Parts: sequence; structure tokens; C-alpha cells
Amino acid sequence: MKLILLGAPGAGKGTQAEILCRELSIPTISTGNILRAAIKNGTPTGLKAKSYMDAGQLVPDDVIIGIVTERLAEDDCKNGYILDGVPRTIAQAAALEKAGITFDDVISIEISDETIMERMSGRRVCESCGASYHMVAVPPKQEGVCDKCGGKLVQRKDDAPETVTTLLEVSHRETEPLKDFYAQRGLLKSVENQPSVEETSRAILHALGR
Ligand code: AMP
Repeated sequence: MKLILLGAPGAGKGTQAEILCRELSIPTISTGNILRAAIKNGTPTGLKAKSYMDAGQLVPDDVIIGIVTERLAEDDCKNGYILDGVPRTIAQAAALEKAGITFDDVISIEISDETIMERMSGRRVCESCGASYHMVAVPPKQEGVCDKCGGKLVQRKDDAPETVTTLLEVSHRETEPLKDFYAQRGLLKSVENQPSVEETSRAILHALGR
């Protein structure tokens, strides 16, 4: 199964992608996680991406397309994949299509800006493995420590309120048009955000006919 998860920043794409990854036994490709790892490792891609990410702006399309096509060519993607956070612009979607990369379903998680603003303030990510948590909704077993790798949990720079406002503006302007793009191709399935992570997962799996 080849999936795209669409949704505003803070819609819960990362959390849902992790769950779907387990349920469907296919890898998640998160451009955000790949970019954060590149920054941590000081690679040329990381250096290029950092200033955009810190400001809540999108990293240029050519950088993103390079990352994704390279990653999707790896062996573990043969039986399917979940794209989390990509494509984020019509140009990226068109470039993936042109590269012959196909999808079976595109899930759009629908959520209000107000709920996102409330939510982002509690988000924490592991600085070692990139796993995401929420102080209220998805707390780690031990405060500040990643359940998976024991790494330190930190607030991302792009989760600061003023950055979140920018992220939402960018998402409405650049990413929302993707819903029409994929609806025209008969692939779009909209799923309303639910009060709990589990309920949203069930709604997504239901939309996928599982
Ligand atoms: P995320 O973890 O998906 O919220 O991504 C964090 C940041 O990485 C975004 O705010 C962008 O600056 C950058 N980024 C991640 N994926 C993309 C993408 N597909 N296109 C452009 N920028 C991206």
C-alpha cells in the first residue's frame, strides 16, 4: 500500500504514520525527520534546510524531491510506504507524479487551526530518533525521556507560537491545494481529527477499508 498523509503541521501525521507503519508493516518516509537528521549530522542538505525550518518556511522543492526519490528507491519501500509531510506543494506532487511514483490513497487529516495551536505547545520530539510525543495526549513513560531509545525529548524550534502561525499560513496557501490535486485523481479520503489518537487511527484505517 502506497499512502500519503496530508494535514496541517500539528495535525498528528507523524503519530498516525507511526501507527499505520506498524499496522500495515510498511515504512514511513518523513521528510521532516530526514531533514532534522541531516541538520544534526551537519550534511550539506542539513545546512541548506536549517534556516527555512527554523523560520517555519518550506525547504525548496528540489531539495525535497531529491530526498524522497532517493529514499523511495531503497529496498524496504518495495511493498509500499507512507509519506508523512511530503508532498507539501503542488510542484512536489507534480514532480513525484512525473518521476512515476504512484499512490493508492491520500488521507487528509482535517483539524481546525485553534486545535493545532493548543496542541503544538505540548509537542516534544526525541532529539536522537525523532519519535514524537505530546505532554498530554501521548506522554512518554518517563518525563523528558524517549520510550524507544532513551534519548532526550525537546521542543522543536518550529513549535514556538509565532512559528506555528507561519506554518499554518504556509500550509493553507501551499499544501491545501493538494487536496484538490488528489481529489481530481480519485485518491483523496478526508478523515476528521478525533479526540484521541486511537480514534483517529481507527477512522483512518476505516477510510482505507481495514
Ligand atoms: P515536519 O516535521 O513535517 O513538520 O517538517 C518540519 C519542517 O521541515 C517544515 O516546516 C519544513 O520547513 C521542512 N519540510 C519538511 N517536509 C517538507 C516538504 N515536503 N517540503 C518543504 N519543506 C519541508
